[in-house]
Amino acid sequence: MICIYCGNKTQVTNSRIQKRLNRIWRRRRCLVCNAIFTTEEMADLRTSLSVRCANGPVAPFSRDKLFISILRSVGHRTSSIDDAGALTATVIAILLHDATTAAIGPADIIRTVLATLHRFDNVAAVQYQAYHRQ
Ligand SMILES: [Zn+2]
Repeated sequence: MICIYCGNKTQVTNSRIQKRLNRIWRRRRCLVCNAIFTTEEMADLRTSLSVRCANGPVAPFSRDKLFISILRSVGHRTSSIDDAGALTATVIAILLHDATTAAIGPADIIRTVLATLHRFDNVAAVQYQAYHRQ
């Protein structure tokens, strides 16, 4: 990977596997400007997981859409952004673990988010359910 500041070659100075998040974290140093920055390697869910909609079309899975829907439900909490990020990671891990194919249905996502929110904060679960009545 090239330096994010000057575009020259970089060297990995430290690397860790984050088992819980299934990611690889790397600290890099630019060989020219000596800038230090961090990269993370993780599965690309947009090309690895799809959402099969009711009327047939299949859309790439969007972590951002999931995050925003969860964020709306935890907006009453003081740590809503951090909570939504952690809850999104939990929901994605459950969806991937339970998936039997590379395409999941919106109902699978809604059911998984609801179950996760119920364990975390009942108010958030009620909010989420109000947004996602089927
Ligand atoms: Zn540089």
